[in-house]
Amino acid sequence: MAFQQDCIFCKIARNELPAAKVFENETLIAFLDINPIAPGHLLLITKHHYASLFEASQAAAGDLGSILPRLARAVCRGVEAPALNVVANTGREAGQVVDHLHWHLIPRREGDRLFGPWPHRAYGQGEQESVRERIETVLLSD
Ligand code: AMP
Ligand code: ZN
Repeated sequence: MAFQQDCIFCKIARNELPAAKVFENETLIAFLDINPIAPGHLLLITKHHYASLFEASQAAAGDLGSILPRLARAVCRGVEAPALNVVANTGREAGQVVDHLHWHLIPRREGDRLFGPWPHRAYGQGEQESVRERIETVLLSD
């Protein structure tokens, strides 16, 4: 299991730092975020150190995903919230602060305004096809 000496989530994975854990198995841990944006705000991490989703293997992402339905149900029933968002802040510009792969499970309630309305807009002429092509090209080479 790869770890980084100065990584707080590696320390939690190795029991060198305390965490309010709700789930643990061989490869994953879920615990309460220490500064939640809503009560029940959970973090799901791999024990293996990946800096972010960009570095994660398909198998690691599959492993994380496999526990999501149970965790989602548990969080929402546990704090009596009707909904939740699953968020992986990936990179500084997206708000990632801790460089160890983690997914946020954030209980949502009507009117909580945690993420605000998204600024949707339509694509310009030809823009959608050009964007689609560029993403597809990178995907095929990865
Ligand atoms: P992110 O901005 O996606 O990197 O999120 C990192 C999250 O980790 C933040 O929501 C922090 O509140 C949370 N966090 C930082 N240190 C700890 C800790 N020791 N235990 C639990 N959560 C933490
Ligand atoms: Zn780490």
